[in-house]
Amino acid sequence: MPEGHRFPMEKYAAFRRQAQQRLFSLPGVGFHPSPLSTVRDLESTHDRSYIQRYLVGNVTAQEKRESGFDWNEQHVNRTLSSVGGTVAATHAVLQSDSSVGAHLAGGTHHAFQARMEGFCIFSDIAVAANVALRDYPDKVRKILIVDLDTHQGNGNAVLFQDDSRVFTFSMHCDANYFSKKQASDLDVEVKAGTGDAGYLSLLERYLPLVFEAQAPDLVFFQAGVDVHASDRLGKLALTRAGLQRRNLRLFQFVEAYGSKLVVTAGGGYPSDSDPSSGPYADIINAHADVYVGAAEFFGGGSKMVPLLR
Ligand SMILES: [Zn+2]
Repeated sequence: MPEGHRFPMEKYAAFRRQAQQRLFSLPGVGFHPSPLSTVRDLESTHDRSYIQRYLVGNVTAQEKRESGFDWNEQHVNRTLSSVGGTVAATHAVLQSDSSVGAHLAGGTHHAFQARMEGFCIFSDIAVAANVALRDYPDKVRKILIVDLDTHQGNGNAVLFQDDSRVFTFSMHCDANYFSKKQASDLDVEVKAGTGDAGYLSLLERYLPLVFEAQAPDLVFFQAGVDVHASDRLGKLALTRAGLQRRNLRLFQFVEAYGSKLVVTAGGGYPSDSDPSSGPYADIINAHADVYVGAAEFFGGGSKMVPLLR
């Protein structure tokens, strides 16, 4: 990334370090580099010529503007590992008796079949969902995407609009759409400025409905923390405790339905770019809390999968 770019790339290393420190004492928690996605896996979801054009750098000025990214080779690696990590976490959780696998990145929910948008080139969750349906037909028949980022999961909404095996649930701020509002299987709009109590009561109303509707074998959690009050883009006003409660409620439903869970990071944009500032720490803590919360809830130890290489 060029100096001063508005995408907070350094936050990923920061919350990964914090998660590692906090999970260090839990037995059985392993951290592994994300593998690069294969083209075959990308083609489960994205248009072949779009994939090829991106890989060789044949990206238009409009695409650069809409994605917010310039093209370079390091960025290709980052994009491919962003998908590959979620796919690896999915394989890991489906090949073990563990409940949860996690990727300390991903959640790129604004990518379409042949279009990039909003820091998203490919949809890691959509690719992982299609790979799961392709590779584990006996284990995975119903998938639920729970997208709690402050932005609508517009890409995944369109990618799965005609696929009854994948239910898309997006709960987002009503003032936070990207190019165009799309129709998820269930969209819940949260009014700008809503805090913990209002947000959590909406979640309590809709989480039971989506689990009941789908009884999912596999759940993908887009755990964006841009709903935090310290987020620059989010327009919502959740606290750290509110976010922890949000995560916990999802974990409880996953456990109650005996589903497998794959966690991805999603958005989080500190309102201050100084890593030593309070708002910056709020976003890093909120990201790390998702992973620490999942590891602690699902028991750590033998229930937490070491990711496959
Ligand atoms: Zn977002």
